[in-house]
Amino acid sequence: VIKCRAAVAWTPGKPLSVEEVEVAPPKAGEVRIKIVATGICCTDEHLLQGCFPHAEFPVIPGHEGAGIVESIGEGVISVKPGDKVIPLCMPQCGECSFCQNPESNFCKKSHFSETQNLLPDKTSRFSCKGKQIHHFLWVSTFAEYTVVPEYAVAKIDDAAPLDKVCLFACGFSTGYGAAINTAKVKPGSTCAVFGLGGVGLSVVMGCKAAGASRIIAVDINKDKFAKAKELGATDCINPRDFKKPIQEVLTEMTGQGVDFSFEAIGQADTMIAALASCNMSTGVFVMVGELDSGSQISIDPGLLLTGRTWKGSVLGGSWRMRECIPKLVASYLEKKFNSDLLITHTLPFAKVNEGFELLRAGK
Ligand code: NAD
Ligand code: ZN
Repeated sequence: VIKCRAAVAWTPGKPLSVEEVEVAPPKAGEVRIKIVATGICCTDEHLLQGCFPHAEFPVIPGHEGAGIVESIGEGVISVKPGDKVIPLCMPQCGECSFCQNPESNFCKKSHFSETQNLLPDKTSRFSCKGKQIHHFLWVSTFAEYTVVPEYAVAKIDDAAPLDKVCLFACGFSTGYGAAINTAKVKPGSTCAVFGLGGVGLSVVMGCKAAGASRIIAVDINKDKFAKAKELGATDCINPRDFKKPIQEVLTEMTGQGVDFSFEAIGQADTMIAALASCNMSTGVFVMVGELDSGSQISIDPGLLLTGRTWKGSVLGGSWRMRECIPKLVASYLEKKFNSDLLITHTLPFAKVNEGFELLRAGK
């Protein structure tokens, strides 16, 4: 058993408390990882606010981390102590019908099929003050050590800087893959990206890498525009600067609506606006933002009748995580894209709540 620090969410709506926790050794088929760096994603904020479906408290959040294998359980063959790894919140078991379909990134062992609040044997490896603490998406990267199933671990290059590539566990891969894999943005096309957080900015990078000729970035926080332009946005607009709805503004700017639109905010009204912003015939809208659990959306079906497509994208569409994350890390090391530009602040672990304050403040 390792004693180390972890940020525990005891109940929804309260700040995290950094506690000493006990982390049990990995059981068969599991890997214990020393987490070196972790990002903060809006999905962690949904969890803290009690809006993440089927989450259980107390819980150790965090799902955008990178680290080094500390020890392995019986039967683990794909990683060994000392390997650099990224724990995956979308596993790749390799056996289910989705894993066997080359077009899918989905694994039936993901949290969409059953909760990942405990490890697959239905027990937790975390305890604090004699109480069992739940895992989050199996990965719980807000702990100095965590235990995950082997099929939720990607081994990456030894040269990878863990404080930079941790973003590949969620934000970067989600946004970049939504453009490349889900939308399949075509060279010369026009795109609109709603929301310029870590995810939306990564969508901008993906649209640019795919050769889009016009990328219109949309956010109510104009402080996001400089970074969006640096990453490839050709136009940046703030819906609050216009009297008319933003979908009408985008339709006028492009003549008929964009070819591809993306929502990376997580609100029903902006999803509908993004859908209506793509052209009525071949336009493709990709939903990336997450609505609070239990929400419903109603739309005018006429928006779809003429041929528009509404797609969803989880963790970047069809990345097969154990195979593709190491390849993305290799591309990063070859400087094919610069995801470092997404990093705004680097804080010591004890200041994790300050990190959430910065996220809430749009910084
Ligand atoms: P973020 O909070 O950093 O960014 C959201 C951005 O949206 C902010 O810049 C904010 O100013 C902007 N915004 C808010 N309201 C707006 C409005 N009405 N119009 C225009 N812009 C508006 O969040 P993030 O970490 O980038 O995550 C974005 C969304 O993606 C969240 O809902 C998150 O849960 C979701 N997400 C989805 C996946 C997936 O696999 N599909 C993975 C990670 C995150
Ligand atoms: Zn995330």
